[in-house]
Amino acid sequence: MWGVSKNMWGVKMNKMKGVARLGRMVAVVVALLSVVVPSEAFAAPRNKSQVKYVFYFIGDGLGINHVRGAELYNAKVHPEMANGGELSFTRFPVHTFITTHSATSLVTDSAAAGTALATGVKTINGYLGVDAEERPVKNITEFVKERGWKVGICSNVGINHATPSAFYAHCKKRSEYNYIIDRLIESDIDFMAGSTILSCSKSGLKAQDIVEQARAAGIEVLQSADRAAEVRNKRVMLLSDSLDRKSMRFATDRSESCPTIVDFTRAAIRYLEREAVDDGFMLMVEGGHIDYACHDNDAVTTFEEINDFSASIAMAVEFAERHPDQTLIVVTSDHETGGMAIGYSKYKMNMERLAFQRTSEEQLTLKMQHMRESGKVTWEDMQQLLSDYLGLWDKVTLRKKDEETLRRIFRDNFLQEGEKVVGLYTSNEKMAAEAVRILNKRAYVNWIGLSHTGAQVPLFVKGVGYERFMECFDNTDVPKKIAEVIGGELN
Ligand SMILES: [Zn+2]
Repeated sequence: MWGVSKNMWGVKMNKMKGVARLGRMVAVVVALLSVVVPSEAFAAPRNKSQVKYVFYFIGDGLGINHVRGAELYNAKVHPEMANGGELSFTRFPVHTFITTHSATSLVTDSAAAGTALATGVKTINGYLGVDAEERPVKNITEFVKERGWKVGICSNVGINHATPSAFYAHCKKRSEYNYIIDRLIESDIDFMAGSTILSCSKSGLKAQDIVEQARAAGIEVLQSADRAAEVRNKRVMLLSDSLDRKSMRFATDRSESCPTIVDFTRAAIRYLEREAVDDGFMLMVEGGHIDYACHDNDAVTTFEEINDFSASIAMAVEFAERHPDQTLIVVTSDHETGGMAIGYSKYKMNMERLAFQRTSEEQLTLKMQHMRESGKVTWEDMQQLLSDYLGLWDKVTLRKKDEETLRRIFRDNFLQEGEKVVGLYTSNEKMAAEAVRILNKRAYVNWIGLSHTGAQVPLFVKGVGYERFMECFDNTDVPKKIAEVIGGELN
């Protein structure tokens, strides 16, 4: 404190030409007081708002319409939800939007966007943690680690998928899963959670082999969120209970026993809060399944995944209520996926019609394939399936031309085992994709395509230093602002 006081006096004296003698006298008095009065008596009030806990939530593929759509869907389909189905983050003091383009494309992929959100540097699609010239760049995880903080990274897709990898890896190929997981194992990330571990098929390694590598490196690898939360003085890797799947089950499909991104977040907070002790912690949570559902143009699955994402954020909000002067919560997205439109025709929206979808398009595909394998399938059997799982005919009436389309696909495609609708992560029956598309359109929800778009994405911020985020315009600004709030400069 005395260092600050002397500087303040110094500045003042420079400005006060002609009163140097007075200044010297004051300096002498201050020096004398420093001998006889404890320095604490002159200390400024302690700054209570010093960030110590940072939560960074990334909804993969989450666009502005997805957020609004989820709230409108909740209002009609989930009347039991608190606050009319409002998401946990839409009333944060900062709610703005940011641009997402990569270094060489107006439409980013998750690797370049993840790199921008982790390092503040634009790069080429497919690159992770390196700039456009392939030079490694520091990420916000390394930044907080230099300050002695603990770090957690959670995702409901593979722990070495693009978004989480951007927070610990540096390489020019997002598909180098084996190289990337090695970087995670050798890193100093304290708590890591994901549905599974992805591995390059040509390597012959399975997720279980890599689990053994992680254990050999001293990491506690568990498939129970409750047990992971209780680990002490050891790094933790928490995986879902089905390592052979590429991702955890969608919120629309899973049984009660499946761990969710909410379970991961709860365990991470319990672990980090205890392990951080005097230091701070940063927790990055990715809602990766939102993007998977958007790549299928499946509105109900998208909205239910957003609800999971929102419930994870609610835990950070609850934590912040216990540590209001020390917590920063940032919620954003890496890009928009699908070009979702809500209320695209006739000034209408009928979200209540989505209440009857009971499974994801991906699972509907599996049910159809199972049906085909079981023997002779009639049009009436297919109608029954679509009625049971989407509410078509029974609860949601179909227009004549939509029914004709479904009949044609049943005859010309499904019965012939024709072409599939191939998204980035799934290969669905055309029958399932068209049925879901028709249900979406009956609710007046529509999609432009199966890929990412160049749209801006939302940014919501609450907590210590939120004011700085009012001037966030691009995805690269976000980690730089987080670093500023913590007290430093990132790249
Ligand atoms: Zn993405």
